[in-house]
Amino acid sequence: MRTPLVMGNWKMHGTLAEARTLATAIRDGLKRPRGVEVVVCPPFTALAAVGEILAGSPIRLGAQNCHWEASGAYTGEVSPAMLAELGCRYVLVGHSERRRELGETDQRISLKVQAALAHGLTPVLCVGETADERRQGLTFTTVEGQLRAGRAGMMPDAVGKIVLAYEPVWAIGTGVNATPAQAAEVHGYLRGLLSELTSKETAQTIRILYGGSVKADNADALAAEPEIDGALVGGASLNAPGFIAIVRKTARAGAAVRGE
Ligand code: PEP
Repeated sequence: MRTPLVMGNWKMHGTLAEARTLATAIRDGLKRPRGVEVVVCPPFTALAAVGEILAGSPIRLGAQNCHWEASGAYTGEVSPAMLAELGCRYVLVGHSERRRELGETDQRISLKVQAALAHGLTPVLCVGETADERRQGLTFTTVEGQLRAGRAGMMPDAVGKIVLAYEPVWAIGTGVNATPAQAAEVHGYLRGLLSELTSKETAQTIRILYGGSVKADNADALAAEPEIDGALVGGASLNAPGFIAIVRKTARAGAAVRGE
């Protein structure tokens, strides 16, 4: 069975002092999270400080982006090797804010996925349709294209090492989440596609997170869907009690799905 995963994406928020305060509150509020894995993704500037605060705790460190080269003349970029050195275990790749605002292409996203894996990081490949694409009935086409492009060049067994995040663009930061049924439908479609790209057995081990306006009051309904393996949380991850509630509710719903 898949252990639910809850990730906090802090985006470009917080001073170093605020990051330390938030990380300390999350660490102290989740001393022994059971049946759930928890990751926080602070801005690059806070990774080292947050890593020190989380050292020895079960809360893991992730980054919000990486370059695909290990080093080189890439001004302003951060390599997966640098993130691994700081203790990161995960890295978000292809977040819609980067695809749309920063022109991140499918080709670069695929290079980043492979580079992350090569440096021992788990890439969290983000896919999701815009409101227009959903209106036009292109949801499955869009996420399928993004998944196929993101895994281009990878061996089938490497696909089993990624985490997938379904994040409908219209739900990110809007306060309007996909309904559990809407999300589960897309997750089911993605799982079917993963079966084709890897094997049925491997696809069953890959975690597919839902992201888009997850809050403490909708986390349990979303996680109660057997195809939803956790949450990628943006805005609500900046508030420690709210994030901790999401983690607890996701863990509880996941245990119920597993019949525990
Ligand atoms: C995100 O940034 O990945 C996200 C899902 O944001 P929010 O939870 O704020 O919608």
